Amino acid sequence: MTTSVNDSGDFALRWFEEFFTSFDADKDELGEMDRRSGDGDFAVNLDSALKLTRRNLDRLEGPPSLRNVFAAASEAFLNTGGTSGPLLGMWLREFNKAAADDDANVVSAIATGAREGAAAVQRVGGAQPGDKTMVDAMAPAAESLARSAADGADLAAAMYAAAGAARKGADSTKALLARRGRASYVGEAARGVTDPGAAAIALFFAAGHEAATATDLAD
Ligand code: ADP
Ligand code: MG
Repeated sequence: MTTSVNDSGDFALRWFEEFFTSFDADKDELGEMDRRSGDGDFAVNLDSALKLTRRNLDRLEGPPSLRNVFAAASEAFLNTGGTSGPLLGMWLREFNKAAADDDANVVSAIATGAREGAAAVQRVGGAQPGDKTMVDAMAPAAESLARSAADGADLAAAMYAAAGAARKGADSTKALLARRGRASYVGEAARGVTDPGAAAIALFFAAGHEAATATDLAD
């Protein structure tokens, strides 16, 4: 049975709850991807960031909102190690900033966050789409959300499309040779392995879609 929630703060909380659950289910697989293409710590880093996120969410001041939920997550990731911690922290921070401007229209706030987040990660990490990093899932999800916002799509439809775009982007990394991050040091050995960062982004948007289908927003 799905429980209906009816505002964007409940949606944001549910998004992270769904992500905690799906990450727990896929943790070993994500760890294995980084073992084959990097140094094997990706799932451990993400696990720490999510434990810290959960703690921050338990201590939210005031009712949950798109803004304070993403602030809590961003702060947790920025305080986590690895390359992925700070990059994902910066990515999540852009959702927090976009929500502050535009919490009335959730789809357009998420679309702005995804666009600015992908831009921030590319600026700091120097990766372009096609370099076999998390950007390969972030960029297509951002493009999909921009189209959904322009079309006036509802939240569930927008998240469904974003999750599909992120999944397709993540799957495309399997055939690529890495040009950024540790996977670029191992060269051909990482070909055939999906980039764990991109796979985690796909999982995150799939969790968002799960949360959206259980959410009944009034807008
Ligand atoms: P580390 O390489 O420090 O062990 P993690 O294991 O925490 O970092 O994260 C690895 C993930 O980080 C990769 O799967 C990739 O998606 C992402 N990544 C690595 N370098 C970059 C970069 N320059 N730009 C964007 N993403 C990157
Ligand atoms: Mg690693």
